Amino acid sequence: MAKRDYYEVLGAKKGASADELKKAYRAKAKELHPDRNSDNPQAEAQFKEVNEAYEVLKDDQKKAAYDRFGHAAFEGGMGGGPRPGGYGQQGDFASAFSDVFEDLFGDFMGRGGGGGGGRSRAQRGSDLRYNMRVSLEEAYTGSQKSITVPTSVTCDICHGSGAEGGAEPVTCPTCNGMGKVRAQQGFFTIERTCHQCNGMGQIIKNPCRTCGGQGRVQKDKQLSVNIPLGVETGTRIRLAGEGEAGLRGGPNGDLYIFIEVKEHALFQRDGVHLFCRVPVSMPTAAMGGEIEVPTIDGGKARVKVPAGAQSGKQMRLRSKGMPALRSSNTGDMVIELAVETPVNLTSRQRELLREFEKLSEENNPEGSSFFSKVKSFWEGMKG
Ligand SMILES: [Zn+2]
Ligand SMILES: [Zn+2]
Repeated sequence: MAKRDYYEVLGAKKGASADELKKAYRAKAKELHPDRNSDNPQAEAQFKEVNEAYEVLKDDQKKAAYDRFGHAAFEGGMGGGPRPGGYGQQGDFASAFSDVFEDLFGDFMGRGGGGGGGRSRAQRGSDLRYNMRVSLEEAYTGSQKSITVPTSVTCDICHGSGAEGGAEPVTCPTCNGMGKVRAQQGFFTIERTCHQCNGMGQIIKNPCRTCGGQGRVQKDKQLSVNIPLGVETGTRIRLAGEGEAGLRGGPNGDLYIFIEVKEHALFQRDGVHLFCRVPVSMPTAAMGGEIEVPTIDGGKARVKVPAGAQSGKQMRLRSKGMPALRSSNTGDMVIELAVETPVNLTSRQRELLREFEKLSEENNPEGSSFFSKVKSFWEGMKG
């Protein structure tokens, strides 16, 4: 079954804020809570689904990856490295259950508040997507490709701190590093994000002039990418840490290479198998013979054509197809004969074909089985 969209699962809009997501999650979690749904057998599965969705969307990194790539962000991927985060798995019911409790009641029990001290200072860099087209030959042999990715890298001058001369940021004087300020309004105390430090809890006194205090600069990054053999259109290669630089010491994002394999003039691909239509002359098809067919490794293979081969006849050449990705298996090449009717005949060829036709009638006076079926069909209609 296809996975439902996480936002849909929570009943939230795409691009909903963290608060809105939390609200939506709480409403759903309450509605589906096992205590209230002892008579609804679907509730448990839905409850898990809601948990899984929120698990991803409440986390900035996971959410960014999900917004960019959908569920594909958490599938195995082809990069070989660890999955992005290794989540996406549904925990067992008991652990999903305890998560909800923490989330629903954490704030009331004082766990959610306090602590602030610039906890959102470091920020992970964004993931980047790079679309790469490769030829079928490159997919066959695997290849090494140099690419240029416009991205942002850590500023060399301030080493990512954003402060001139590499000075450390200082605690924000407005909020004393809490990232939040409180204001009394009637009976209520209202907590707001600090405007001076934007909730970071720290400020930079003299921003680095090279990066404007960002701690990173735009730059074209040269990368060498290893394209494993057997890649297909849709294969993703993940280069961990090669995405945008993180902010203020946060980790880099990842770079995802999306592969598209170009159409080939001779071969059509179906997974690991290749298909090739090969023309064969009428005399060769009639009398049998040998033909030469191209193979994807740039070589050729000799193939025996049996006497009397018809157009559409398929022959399989074992292990002449594509290598399977990350496996030692190799597909086959299937060739399909296309018998060519001779064209632009000379008078001599005409003469010979007429003679040939005459001999054919004498050789087989009954005609082909098709025509004998036609004959008996007509006779049947009369009777
Ligand atoms: Zn800088
Ligand atoms: Zn502040």
